[in-house]
Amino acid sequence: MTKEEFLQFLRDPEVCKEIFAIVKKGGKPATPAQPQVVAAPQIQPTPQFVQPAALKVQPTPQPVQPAAPKVQPTPQPTKPEATKGSGSLADKLKFLRGHLDKVREEEQIAATKVEEKTPAEKYTVISNRRCPICEKDTRVVKTKSRINVEKRDLDYCIHYKDFDPYLYTVLSCEHCGFAAEEKKFTGAWPNKLKETLREFLKQNDMKLPFVEERNVEDALSLFELAILFSEMTDQSKGRQAILNLNAAWVCRCEGFAERERDFMEQAAENFAVALENERWPINGISDDMATYLCAAIYFLINEYDKATNWLGRIMNNANLRSRAPKLFEQARDMWQDIKRANKA
Ligand SMILES: [Zn+2]
Repeated sequence: MTKEEFLQFLRDPEVCKEIFAIVKKGGKPATPAQPQVVAAPQIQPTPQFVQPAALKVQPTPQPVQPAAPKVQPTPQPTKPEATKGSGSLADKLKFLRGHLDKVREEEQIAATKVEEKTPAEKYTVISNRRCPICEKDTRVVKTKSRINVEKRDLDYCIHYKDFDPYLYTVLSCEHCGFAAEEKKFTGAWPNKLKETLREFLKQNDMKLPFVEERNVEDALSLFELAILFSEMTDQSKGRQAILNLNAAWVCRCEGFAERERDFMEQAAENFAVALENERWPINGISDDMATYLCAAIYFLINEYDKATNWLGRIMNNANLRSRAPKLFEQARDMWQDIKRANKA
C-alpha cells in the first residue's frame, strides 16, 4: 500500500469508526469488523473527492492521533446529561421557589399600593356612557357604593368618611360638553330637545376637560351646566331644585358656607315652584319629601319663619302621618328644634 492509498484508507468513515472502537477498548482490535474495513476504500473510489481532502490534511499518520481526543469527549456528554437529569428537578424546585417568592413580593407591593390610593382612587371608577346629545361614548367617573357614613343632616345630606361622592353627581360628555345627573344622562331624550342642545353646544364651547379626580370647582361648574341645560330643555324646577341642593351639599362638605347658602336658597325656591306646577316624584323624591326639604333648607339657613310655614303644611296634613310616618316624625322633631332656637 502506497502512502497515498494508506491516507485514503484512513479517511474512510468506516475505518475511522473502527479506529475509534479500538482506541475505546484501550488498543485491542475490534475483531468482527475487519474484512469490511478493508473493503471500505473500494466503496469510495472517486478521485475528485480524495484529492481536495488530501490538500487539506497533511499526509502524515498524525490524523489518527487527533481522532483520539475526539473519542474521549464522547463519554463526557453522557455524564453531564446524567447530572443534568438529576439536577433538573433541583433546578425546577429552585425556579418554583424563586417564582413563589416573586409572586409574594408582587402581592405585597400591590397591597401597599391599595393603601397608598387617594380617596378618589379608592371610591371611584372610570366607566363609559353613551352621551344622549352627541351620541358618542364618553368616559364618566362613577362612585363606588360602599363608603363609610359619618353623619346625616336634616336635609338628607350625608357626610362620608374621607370622601365626598356629591362631587361626582353630574356626569358630563367629554366630546360635546353636555352635563346632567345620571338618570337624565342615561334617559331618553326627545329629538327636538337633542337638536336644540346640539345646536347650542356647536356654537358655544361648554366642554370641560375630563378629570378623574374632581375638585369643588370642577363639580360646581358641572352642577351649573346641568342646571343651565335643564333650563334650556325640560325646564323642570324640581330637577333644578335637586341639583341646587346637591351643589349646596358639595359646598357644605367642603366648607364653602356662602356659596352653600346661595344654592340652598335657590333649591328652596325651585322646590316651591315645582310643588305647585310639576308632577312628582322627581328623581326619586316625593312631593311630601320636597315639602319637608323646603322646611329643612330654611331651618338650616336660619330662616325659621319660612321653615315653620313649610312645617305647618306637613303637620296639618292628616294623611301624611299614616302615609309617611318617618317623615312626619322628622318634621315634628324639627318643629321642636325651631321652638328651642326661637327661645334661645
Ligand atoms: Zn356628547
